[in-house]
Amino acid sequence: MERKQFQLNDVVEMKKPHPCGENKWKIIRMGMDIRIKCEGCGHSVMIPRKQFEQKLKKVIEPAN
Ligand SMILES: [Zn+2]
Repeated sequence: MERKQFQLNDVVEMKKPHPCGENKWKIIRMGMDIRIKCEGCGHSVMIPRKQFEQKLKKVIEPAN
């Protein structure tokens, strides 16, 4: 399977939208765990990297 590329400050779309209805998340921390922040309501969640890669649909706004 193709490995997904992503980096800090990318805005990504996940397979499942946040319950608030938004499906744009900004990567705000990278490490063993990835922290993403919902662009709709500002809620942030921490996800293990492997799980993040499984749930990631695509990068919609790459960081510069
Ligand atoms: Zn939200």
